[in-house]
Amino acid sequence: MEPAAASERLFFALWPDSALQGRLAAWTKLAAGNARPMRRENIHLTLAFLGTTDAALIAVLGECAHAVRFAPFALRLDRVGYWKHKRLIWCGPEDEAQALTALVAALRAALDNAGIRYDSKPFVSHVTLVRKASGLAAAPSWVPLAWDVRDFALVRSVPSEAGVRYEVMQRFPALAAF
Ligand code: ATP
Ligand code: MG
Repeated sequence: MEPAAASERLFFALWPDSALQGRLAAWTKLAAGNARPMRRENIHLTLAFLGTTDAALIAVLGECAHAVRFAPFALRLDRVGYWKHKRLIWCGPEDEAQALTALVAALRAALDNAGIRYDSKPFVSHVTLVRKASGLAAAPSWVPLAWDVRDFALVRSVPSEAGVRYEVMQRFPALAAF
């Protein structure tokens, strides 16, 4: 067993099931060209980025996240975009989805109440698909996808020689009757 780390690089995210990750990764590979496609198993949507966090706080994070009440929702990944300043290609909803922004607001409020620090830049829904990209010119056309969101996750970011690896530590389900 690995020794418990004193701190972890953590974030909360929506984690697609592997079928959706596979569909996203297939487009990503075609769009990437010589740039850096996200690996299938790493594809996600960040809700709140905590960064380096004392491992002793993980239990508190779990409590915060369990207290967030939300109903399952469908998230439409309508479009792709390119952010020149970050050199990344992403996909996301055409308009911010109310159910998603409400989930993010509730999660961030729970973290605020518990005194947990996270990057508080305003939330902009996006799934990063390609890094170090120079644009969308070579990308295939985009077919909108529907994401059935039934939970969110606490994720650990682990550097490795093959690049960063993300590990889902805990999942927090939506409430069916909400
Ligand atoms: P690396 O930083 O090693 O190149 P990475 O960016 O994929 O790899 P992390 O930096 O651990 O991995 O980031 C994990 C997730 O959190 C990614 O979705 C990343 O875009 C997002 N993220 C990272 N830093 C921030 C930040 N300061 N604010 C908001 N989200 C962030
Ligand atoms: Mg990073």
